[in-house]
Amino acid sequence: EGGGDMAAGGAGDREGRCGAAAGGLALLGLAPGAPSCPHGPALLFVKTSQGKEEGRRFYACSACRDRKDCNFFQWEDEKVSETRLAAREEYNRNHQPFFTHRQNVERYKNFVLLPLSKRRFCQECQQLLLPDEWEKHSDHQFLCDISTAQLKSPSRLLYPLENKKTNAQYLFADRSCQFLLDLIIDLGFRRVLSVGTPRLHEIIQSKASQEEDFRVRSLLLDIDFRYSQFYAEDEFCHYNMFNHYFFGGEAARETCRKFLYQHNGERVIMVTDPPFGGLVEALASSFKKLMAMWKEAEEGGHNSQEMPTFWIFPYFFESRILEFFPSFSMMDYQVDYDNHALYKHGKTGRRQSPVRIFTNLTPSMIVLPVEEGYRFCTMCQRYVSSGNQHCEICNSCTSKDGRQWKHCVLCKKCVKPSWFHCSNCNCCALRNHTCEKTDAGCFVCGKAGHKRSTCPSLSHA
Ligand code: SAH
Ligand code: ZN
Ligand code: ZN
Ligand code: ZN
Ligand code: ZN
Repeated sequence: EGGGDMAAGGAGDREGRCGAAAGGLALLGLAPGAPSCPHGPALLFVKTSQGKEEGRRFYACSACRDRKDCNFFQWEDEKVSETRLAAREEYNRNHQPFFTHRQNVERYKNFVLLPLSKRRFCQECQQLLLPDEWEKHSDHQFLCDISTAQLKSPSRLLYPLENKKTNAQYLFADRSCQFLLDLIIDLGFRRVLSVGTPRLHEIIQSKASQEEDFRVRSLLLDIDFRYSQFYAEDEFCHYNMFNHYFFGGEAARETCRKFLYQHNGERVIMVTDPPFGGLVEALASSFKKLMAMWKEAEEGGHNSQEMPTFWIFPYFFESRILEFFPSFSMMDYQVDYDNHALYKHGKTGRRQSPVRIFTNLTPSMIVLPVEEGYRFCTMCQRYVSSGNQHCEICNSCTSKDGRQWKHCVLCKKCVKPSWFHCSNCNCCALRNHTCEKTDAGCFVCGKAGHKRSTCPSLSHA
């Protein structure tokens, strides 16, 4: 069952043979001496059958789950000729951004000196333009009069990269972004390592530049290099969270290390909102490396704690996340997005989002807004959704999606209200599910009785 979610959205799609019930692809991870694509070291995969590894191992791009974005592929045992290696290196070089981060910082300095009437942003190239470049972009669409406010809010200026498989940029709704920031401040954190959370980063940086007594700082790590146009080298690192790769090399790594060092006890928290497509184990391994960096940066390095973390991810990945981070627990808070078509309205018309906060902080400290219907459960010692009833038998508030769940005596646990016990499958499922005996189980939730296309965890989205 390992690698299940990966096959659900990861390399399985890339190979075009996803969903084969008995087999999938498993991630073996970062291998020493792995070849590189433009996105850093490739990851090692192996085809699996009935849970057993078999067949040849191969390397593929860590970041792009769509072949159209990066088609890097190499058999592990493949002999690669010198000429091909040289060509690959050249290709990797040519596929780096046109301007370096440093150049972009220089350009920004010049840009802000321009009068409003000369501040243009090319929408096609997603680039701030300096007057002597207008000519080259003359037949592109552009925006004029770029204000300081717009420069402070790049996530609204840039278009979200929505291509489902690779970037999947889903931006926080203001309500959720403000909630996260307030929570972080109330918990006493002063530094936020924003891993794939450009909108959180930008409200922090923007407040820091406007309000004198605002003490929080953020460092954004993201693969979206467009952000380097708006942030200095100590505010943004071009980073790949699937292989823990800093595109800016040792200097960028050092920037991150410095940021994690807790000067005068200024506490650090990592907040991450990765693309949901899969590769949980790759993400977990990168987060562990960032946590290790934090630990090393700690004075004396003796701290036995884990770096405080918010990992924002859909609730149906709960068991996968807990597998890698047993210290984490899932909060009931529903994280909302501006541009996530699937997640906007539930059947009742009320916003329903499957996205939650996973954290290693003590659950009782995560105060959820009562005015949005959350309440404190004294038995569970955490805030829960109003619809989440405490089950006497489970002795826990068991709902994962905010609706009231019901206890199934046969399954010995609470299940979704729409589920019924199926004696055929020997578990609860949707009434119209197809009883299918597959040893491998569902790729999404790992349970037997259905394939991923009919996985009940995904049904309401
Ligand atoms: N809700 C967040 C955005 C999350 S969308 C906010 O509003 O701030 C996912 C983010 O992860 C995007 O910013 C995207 O650019 C980034 N991302 C996608 N793949 C990545 C990778 N391989 N490494 C680092 N960041 C990545
Ligand atoms: Zn690649
Ligand atoms: Zn409870
Ligand atoms: Zn129960
Ligand atoms: Zn069943």
